[in-house]
Amino acid sequence: MNMPAIALHAQPSGFPVAGNRLVVGGIPLDRLALRVGKTPFYAYDRGLISARVQSLRACLPAGMRLHYSLKANPMPALVQHMAALVDGFDVSSAGELKAALDTTARTEAISFSGPGKTDAELAQAIAAGVLLNLESEGELTRVTHVAEQLGISPRLAVRVNPDFELKSSGMKMGGGPKQFGIDAEDVPQVLRRIHALGLAVEGFHIYGGSQNLRAEAIVEAQARTFELGLRLAQDAHNPIRHLNIGGGFGIPYFPGDRPLDLHPVTDRLEWWMARVRRALPATRVVLELGRYLVGEAGVYVARIIDRKVSRGQTYLITDGGMHHHLAASGNLGQVIRRNYPLAIGNRMGVTEREPVTVTGPLCTPLDTLAERIMLPHAEVGDLVVVFQSGAYGLTASPTAFLGHEPPGEVLV
Ligand SMILES: *Cc1c(COP(=O)(O)O)cnc(C)c1O
Repeated sequence: MNMPAIALHAQPSGFPVAGNRLVVGGIPLDRLALRVGKTPFYAYDRGLISARVQSLRACLPAGMRLHYSLKANPMPALVQHMAALVDGFDVSSAGELKAALDTTARTEAISFSGPGKTDAELAQAIAAGVLLNLESEGELTRVTHVAEQLGISPRLAVRVNPDFELKSSGMKMGGGPKQFGIDAEDVPQVLRRIHALGLAVEGFHIYGGSQNLRAEAIVEAQARTFELGLRLAQDAHNPIRHLNIGGGFGIPYFPGDRPLDLHPVTDRLEWWMARVRRALPATRVVLELGRYLVGEAGVYVARIIDRKVSRGQTYLITDGGMHHHLAASGNLGQVIRRNYPLAIGNRMGVTEREPVTVTGPLCTPLDTLAERIMLPHAEVGDLVVVFQSGAYGLTASPTAFLGHEPPGEVLV
């Protein structure tokens, strides 16, 4: 047969297969679909999440703290599961703050970042006793005002907009002009102001970017982050207790993506941790990750409603799509649309494949889950699985678009 050349994905390896069926959280997919009671749904495998955190921790330097960023996946059951695995949480809204506070995580180990925190959010965060990462001087003015009104001393850290960026990141969040953080060169003056207000600064939050698969780029950004943190600590008017170096560890999504090689990163972290221990013995260093901890442990599952051929191209039309999974449709910040890894979850052992385009039910060509991907022959009723869906899935999607029901969501 004359097949077109189509790039292949690294095979997602986390989930076992039993009798041609993908197994999630120990449950074969068709059985899990019955248990959930509907399609489409998201399923997150708690065993895979635990295993990922444990294998990462095994390589991290002793004493380094690991925080989970709720933005990646704020599902309450998952956040509670994470509470037992990580040392703290980073939240970016009142909703995420509530999800974090509802768990058994220590309140002291929750930090609140994000531009445009409202006075109401600031008041809740101050009352909760979480660490506020200041994003601007205006925010400092509002925090002091709100804290005075409440009569509660705020816990403050400065989010720094670094004078460098995390190269080859999927999403750059530092360097140049940004809505995030206070420009590094302005931080000494802000520290003087905090001191003059009679407040202490607990630490710094330096976040360079997201979704990076290149160890050298992460090593370089971390070096500059530590240098900046150590330099700014000298400008603080009290000992710094907390240095959040960000994260940015990526996961492979697209054909040709290779998993991040952690060892160059963690080897170098060992060296930096020793330097921080000498220079700032009271400082805890925090690594803050989202997708790296949960992204590969989640699948999005949709059922095939129709199979049709249009001018030679086979379409599998499912009950799920961009309204539940914007990222997989290619509409969440991708410049060129590329396919997430997909499978037919009830035909896993089948090796013969055909090129198909997988879409959702929405009346827009944007609603495509995969374009010309090689999958086993699938029929109406089969289950399409989108891998790498544990982060930036449901809560990063326009669920109201076209008025379909929201998907199910389970932690198994
Ligand atoms: C988005 C974000 C994260 C999480 O990014 P991942 O790519 O999911 O690891 C962490 N910290 C901050 C400040 C963020 O904005």
